[in-house]
Amino acid sequence: MSTLKLGAFTFLHAENGADFSPLTVMGLPTCQLCNWQPMSITREMAERARDAAAAAGIEITLYWCGYTGPAVWNYIDGPSTIGLVPEEYRAVRVEELKRGAEIAAWLGVQDMATHVGFLPLDAKDPNYIGTVDAVRAIAEYAGERGVTFNFETGQETPMVLLRCIQDVGLPNLGINLDPANLLLYGNGNPVDALDIFGTYVRGVHAKDGEYPTDGHFLGEEKPLGEGRVNFPALVPKLKSLGYTGALTIEREISGPQQIADIQRAIDLLTPLL
Ligand code: MG
Repeated sequence: MSTLKLGAFTFLHAENGADFSPLTVMGLPTCQLCNWQPMSITREMAERARDAAAAAGIEITLYWCGYTGPAVWNYIDGPSTIGLVPEEYRAVRVEELKRGAEIAAWLGVQDMATHVGFLPLDAKDPNYIGTVDAVRAIAEYAGERGVTFNFETGQETPMVLLRCIQDVGLPNLGINLDPANLLLYGNGNPVDALDIFGTYVRGVHAKDGEYPTDGHFLGEEKPLGEGRVNFPALVPKLKSLGYTGALTIEREISGPQQIADIQRAIDLLTPLL
């Protein structure tokens, strides 16, 4: 019996909304909707996207909320730029992510996600403590709107992510599992990581990749099936943990090759649903 649904990662633009037609063409019933400038999204824009998705028969499963300021996707400048961890950008981003919770509610979506950043291993690091407080403020605000705050996996190790969820200590916290990111950042084998935080997973990015081969740069993202994630092991394990959500295909390139790779991912994932 199929319990999971396929989807794709899709963008919401302030200027021209969201285009759900590629999903329809590929026969995908769900998407996660992403925008990096939440302050530019009004209630009217969100509700228009909600209505367009409904008209297209597409379920938006999660709002992926980015934020302003720099975000450098490597080991050298990443810790000081990504997410809520760097104090310099934290206050502004807390407000942007609170807006993200509002956008999720306007979209009629129960989940939001973001990259919190390189959570320090040291639980007494001021930037760890400050991030826990920031996530709590956002998640409380989200909870008042019926929205769950999800950590997109990537910069943090699975154990630190688990500890952060425990330290924030709210019921409306979850994980948007990007299994490729665990590899790209060298933070863990995604199948094994489920033994640490698997019961918190509320969303999944179907993305593939390799471990890093240089201590300064991330590993390489790959077309699904050509990396090291091992979806034939990951998906049944997610299901055994009670996961019933979507597998949201994410391929971080553009153009015809992106479409071809998404189609290939659909073919590989469909027998696993
Ligand atoms: Mg992702």
